[in-house]
Amino acid sequence: MIHRTEAVVLRVAPFSKTSHVVTWLTPSHGKIATVVKGAQRPKSWLLGQYDLFYTCELLFYERRGGGLHVMRECSPLATRTSFRTNWRACACASYLCDLILRISPSDTEQAELYSIFTAALDLLGSGEITQQFLLWIELKVLRVLGVSPRLSHCLRCASELTGRKRSGMLFSLPGGGILCADCQRDHHGRAAPIQPDVLAIMQKWQSSDKSHIVRKIRCTKEQLTGISSIIGSFLDYHLDIPPHNRDIALLLTRMDLKQGHKLRSENKA
Ligand SMILES: [Zn+2]
Repeated sequence: MIHRTEAVVLRVAPFSKTSHVVTWLTPSHGKIATVVKGAQRPKSWLLGQYDLFYTCELLFYERRGGGLHVMRECSPLATRTSFRTNWRACACASYLCDLILRISPSDTEQAELYSIFTAALDLLGSGEITQQFLLWIELKVLRVLGVSPRLSHCLRCASELTGRKRSGMLFSLPGGGILCADCQRDHHGRAAPIQPDVLAIMQKWQSSDKSHIVRKIRCTKEQLTGISSIIGSFLDYHLDIPPHNRDIALLLTRMDLKQGHKLRSENKA
């Protein structure tokens, strides 16, 4: 069967002497991998038709029962050239690509994830390189894949975590959510205290779909550190996401280009 779809390039890897395997995110088939025959020949018609972060119109033969699909035609719709010159945006986009490569299921419809991911790439490319933005996108990706941390209600008593109920809470890693102050007896496994203000911000982010609304929520450095730590532990514990790519991306969002030396000393510490 042959399909025509829009698709974003997540990864390009060599395959035999002359071919590539390209992994894509598509709205209709989710994550797919296609073999691109002859891609590495010097006069290939495919030169410049696809690259990392491009959105393309893709025509491919579906191979059922696993294995690689076969690319038939491809033409670029958006090349996102700013990633070629803005290396901080490029590092953040690379991390998001890696996250989606690791946690998105293959060959299933993922229209919402596709929409979130392409919008995130466009915003990163236009200079939205902040820790707040990257953490919010992580929460959105987790939500759409149905693996969100549970932040609205206590895991045990199901009380809504608002107002007074937000004091004395623990974030339980095995449970992937919050235990209120009344429900922490006999708790086993890794857990970390979560401050009421940190939870309130995460709840707001989780329920917001608009980047300009998230941008307006002012966060202190301590709050962002707390949120980053909780999401990072969750990704590591439940989804086996290794921390190094994420740590680099988040470090770069905090980097002031005029104060590179400060960043280097922060790194050493
Ligand atoms: Zn409770």
